[in-house]
Amino acid sequence: MKRIIRSIRPRDWVVIVVLYGTLFAACGVNIYSDKDDVALGQQLDEEIKSNPQQYPILRDRPVVKSYVVGIVNKILQSPAIEKRNIYPYNVEIIADDETINAFCTPGGYIYVYTGLIKFLPNEAALAGILGHEIAHAERRHATKRITAAYGVQILLGAALGQNPSTVEQIAANLFTNLGFLKNSRDDELESDNYSMKYLRSTEYYPGGIIFFFERINQAGKGTASELEKLFLTHPPSQERYDNVQKTMQEWGIPQPTQKNLFPDRYGDFKAKLP
Ligand SMILES: [Zn+2]
Repeated sequence: MKRIIRSIRPRDWVVIVVLYGTLFAACGVNIYSDKDDVALGQQLDEEIKSNPQQYPILRDRPVVKSYVVGIVNKILQSPAIEKRNIYPYNVEIIADDETINAFCTPGGYIYVYTGLIKFLPNEAALAGILGHEIAHAERRHATKRITAAYGVQILLGAALGQNPSTVEQIAANLFTNLGFLKNSRDDELESDNYSMKYLRSTEYYPGGIIFFFERINQAGKGTASELEKLFLTHPPSQERYDNVQKTMQEWGIPQPTQKNLFPDRYGDFKAKLP
């Protein structure tokens, strides 16, 4: 085995490492338990809350938080949710109008930026995004990615000894960056699909997230790269837009109306933001 390993050229290791990581990720292997996901989320939650400079948690407007919690609770009642009794599904609002984003740690700690809330046109759009975030936790995308990267490191360590050459280091770094900076294309599509599944049993238009994509298109002309930076953790794409359209057609969902988008209620809510 050692001889085989030595006979593989450094450049081939790059290919092997990337393939191995992809295989691990594709199989959805996860070395963590649900309990680990919650512990990891809790740890991240503490770190976020101890860094008010970067994450100014909105604390003086309980009415804003309870509105978002209300939407989350409606989504969590969907029969497609599996971990409502295992994950805490805590919600925090981050008072930052410059950032158009939301994210969710493993174990279901959800954070929504005021920039995103102001950016969206109706309540169904916010519900669509919250469903998408919940899906990242339910489907355990983060710890699956960590598992894949960890597997690669074990392989690198075992095969290359203590002095991996530059080529291998670059491969390892590349993989890590690609894996952690943003959710993968597949994870994004899967989260969109689950968001639609979850919303189907609620009062909301199931494809609510499409209004987020539409707003990006309206806002994006000329400043596409700036907007892309904002959505780094959930890269938007034409593919995601088309996927929602196609699913709504397949499910025979009629065009949305005011009755399942709730733009007025949402407007009242936005007026309560700082
Ligand atoms: Zn995402």
